[in-house]
This record gives sequence, C-alpha cells and structure tokens, in this order.
Amino acid sequence: QEEQDPSKLKPRPPVVVVMGHVDHGKTTLLDTIRKTNVAAKEKGGITQHIGASMVKTKEGKLITFLDTPGHEAFTSLRARGAQVTDVAILVVAADDGVMPQTIEAINHAKAFNVPIVVAVNKIDKPGADPSRVRRELSEVGVIPEEWGGDTVFVDVSAKTGQGVDELLEMVMLVADMLELKANTDKKAKGTIIESKLDKQRGPVATVLITEGTLKVGDIFVVGATYGRVRAMTDSLGHRLKQATPSTAVEIIGFEEVPESGDILKVVDSEKQAKELAQIRKMAKEQEKNKDLGISLEDVFKKIQEGEVKELKLIVKADAVGSLEAIKKSLSDIKTTEVSVKVIHEGVGSITEGDVMLARAAKAIILGFNVRPDIKAKESAEREKVDIKVYGIIYELLDDVKKAISGMLAPIKKEVVLGVAEVRATFRVKGAGTVAGCYVLDGKIVRNQRARLIREGVVIFEGKIESLKRFKEDVPEVARGYECGIKLENYNDIKVKDEIECYELKEEKQTI
Ligand code: GDP
Repeated sequence: QEEQDPSKLKPRPPVVVVMGHVDHGKTTLLDTIRKTNVAAKEKGGITQHIGASMVKTKEGKLITFLDTPGHEAFTSLRARGAQVTDVAILVVAADDGVMPQTIEAINHAKAFNVPIVVAVNKIDKPGADPSRVRRELSEVGVIPEEWGGDTVFVDVSAKTGQGVDELLEMVMLVADMLELKANTDKKAKGTIIESKLDKQRGPVATVLITEGTLKVGDIFVVGATYGRVRAMTDSLGHRLKQATPSTAVEIIGFEEVPESGDILKVVDSEKQAKELAQIRKMAKEQEKNKDLGISLEDVFKKIQEGEVKELKLIVKADAVGSLEAIKKSLSDIKTTEVSVKVIHEGVGSITEGDVMLARAAKAIILGFNVRPDIKAKESAEREKVDIKVYGIIYELLDDVKKAISGMLAPIKKEVVLGVAEVRATFRVKGAGTVAGCYVLDGKIVRNQRARLIREGVVIFEGKIESLKRFKEDVPEVARGYECGIKLENYNDIKVKDEIECYELKEEKQTI
C-alpha cells in the first residue's frame, strides 16, 4: 500500500480485549485496570463509557482496552472485517478452571491469530489452584512458557489488584514482539466500535483510530454516510483536538448514525465525502432493490436465503386510535432473528405514495378498515407490492406473526448421532493420533462434527476427519463395533476419552 514508507511508521499502543468464561472476573479486571492505571488520572476526568479506554502502565506505556468484555464483541467486529485487536487477555478463575467459554475464547483468538496472555484470576480465594489452570489449558494447547510453551501466564487477583501491574507488563511484552506501528502523518482512518443516536447531540460514535491523525474539523466518509469532526472526547470526557493511532475517541458530527465495524476515512472535501457516501449508499440500495416490490411469500424466501432479517411494514388505518393499537401490538411481537419495523404509517386510504415507498423499501402494506385508491391499486399490481387489508386487528397481527414464523431464518439444532469410547491411541506418521474406539451408542459418521469429552468436560470440538474399520475407510460405524477415529487438527486424545458425534440440523422457528 501507498504509505509503507518505514521511516514514517511510529510505534502505536496495543489494543487489547478481555475474554473468558462468565463470572471469571473480566469486568472486575477491566475496572481495576481502569481505576489504578487511568492514563490521565491527574487531569481529573470522569470515566465515561465510550467503548474503549486508554491506560498507562507503571513504566508509562499506553494500552488501549476495549471496554466490552467477552469475545462476542470482538468477533462481531471481526465478522464485519474490522481487525482492531492486537492482544487478548484470557481470564480464567483459579477456583473454577477451564470452562466452555474459555475454550470458545481461545478458539476465537486463534482463528484471528491474536496472541493470548492468560490472567489466572482470583488467586486471593482460598480454593484457588493456579497450577490446575495451567494444566487444563495445556491440555487444550495453551501451554505456559515455564512449561516450554509460548503463552505467558500471570497470576492475578482482579479484586485486590495483586499481579495486575505484572499482567500489563506482560501484555506490553507480547505487544512489543508484534512491533505495532502506524503512520501518524497522514489523513486518518479508523473503525467505528460503538454508535448511537443521542437525544441532545445527534449521531455519536466511538472511532478507534488505526492510521493517521484525526483532527477536529476533518471531513470524512464512514460506511454509507459522512460527516465532519465537530468535537472529540476521550474516555475521561476530555476534549481533544486530535487523536493518533490506537486512540479511541467519541466524535460528533455525523450526518447519520454509522454502524459498528464501519470504516471511517478522512477525505479532502465535503463534496468528495458526499459523493463517496452516495456511491456507497447506492451500492447498498442496489443490493436491496435487485428486483421490484415484495410479497409476504417473497419475504419468506428472502429470509430463508438469509437476505432479509427484517419485516418492514407500512400501516394505514381508519383512525388514530386503531393505528396506535396496531403499532403497539406490532412492537410487542419479538423474535430473536427477525424484527418488525413500521417504516411508515398514517390515517386514511392507501395511496400511490405508500406503494412507491413500499417498493423502494421492500415493505408490505397493511390496511385496517381502509382500502387502496384506484391509482394505488394499479401501481401495486404493476410494481408487485403486496397490500393486505383487514377489518379485525387480531387477524392483522396473526398474519404478521405467521409471516415472521415463516420468515425466521432456520436455526441450527444439534442432533447427537452417537458416542464412542477411546480404548487405545496410535501415532500415525504424518497423520497424528488415531483413536482406537468402541462405539457405545448410536453411530459415528465420517465428516460429521465431533467433540472430545474427558471426564465429562468438553475439551475439543471439531470434525471427524477419517473413520476406519480395520484398514478400510468407512462412511459410518454402528454401535457395538470397533473403529479408528482421527479428529481434524487434534491429537491430544487419551484412553477413556469419549468422542461424541453430532450433526447440525437446520430448523424453522415458530412463534
Ligand atoms: P465476568 O462475568 O467475567 O465479567 O466476571 P465479574 O468481573 O463480574 O466477576 C464475577 C464475580 O467474581 C464477582 O462477584 C467478582 O467480585 C468476583 N471476582 C472477580 N475477580 C475476583 C478476584 O480476583 N478475587 C475474588 N475473590 N473475586 C473476584
């Protein structure tokens, strides 16, 4: 890329996320770090939640922490293409050990190649057993340096603050090896990590600067919208004039609320920003408006194809009272996958304008005790916009509910196919460990998903890479038979482990 001139690259602080099982102390650790290492404590700011905050280590080094604990936030940003985190702190409670979300967190960090520093937490507790955490993590491939591995472990108490300084030091050490650098001497680029519509201030968003220097007054394009930096504040509420890489600042001055994961880019002029935003918006709209209007049946299909996750409605009614009642009931319809959104409403007959809007927005028109006028009827037929009219509120709601249940994207449901017990293990040159197994129940199926269970604890999830009876490859092996199982990318199998084979089935949801 253009600006890889090494002389212009300057070190930047690492961006760190805290992950781990629920209740292992992520929030407490973040709080303790923020309280004791506030970067600008002496300036006396009031901590505010903007999505990220910067802290200072004892040696005066800066670290940016994403405020939202857990790997979900980290992964959802990643899913949108935003690579913002450099190091992950994995919190494991020493009185609880490795738990399912610990494994999940490890897998997420590994999938994105983010190095882990393990914080063995709650060492102040009487039942704490830090060596158990080391042992259990070693079993899943996260091996402490002191045991010959490459992961740094630090014993801490998020509650008393013990070990926290050392933890930050170790995070810096790991970050140093990554040689994080950015050019500060150019137009800024950043990633939106949080956004909202504030009643007083309008659209507000936190941007994590990834390159360049963002200044008050800068004009930018972000996602399909644009803006001008009217004001910037840090996590202590201090007004800033400029922000450099790895700094998170809350800014105002957006035309519309951007989405988290959107990339912000400073441009030369408002004209250019508007044009770029317009182009991006059109590209987005084109995606949506590939064909004409939409009917309830289309919606089902679109949802099933995963294209649409929202049922947009235009509601017209004979009176304000009934309109309000319908809107209220519609807002009570809730599902996790599909939302119902009334994009336009009104009292009176259904007009051509309603139809055009429905077409553009891919919405469905619902009329209560009203009818479309002639023009609306004609254009609805031409544009294939669906108009439904009702005389009973209950029926209207029922249709929406039905539409949604048809609309719900299929959920994946797990079906256990069988369980096998490991009776022997073999090292096969170039292949890894093969488990000699006996199928206890159901059947084991090649290429299906599997988990390895040791003393009731899931220690690996993945796929059955190969399945053999004697020397033959076979598609499946039934209960009561012996077989050889090789798990994909996993070799730490022990006698007495159980391999559970399961399948993910797609299922429609109903209300
Ligand atoms: P999270 O779900 O991972 O964010 O966990 P929290 O930070 O909410 O902590 C869960 C519980 O563990 C809370 O009651 C904390 O007070 C407690 N806790 C967290 N860290 C420590 C610690 O180092 N020592 C002790 N004794 N308790 C802790």
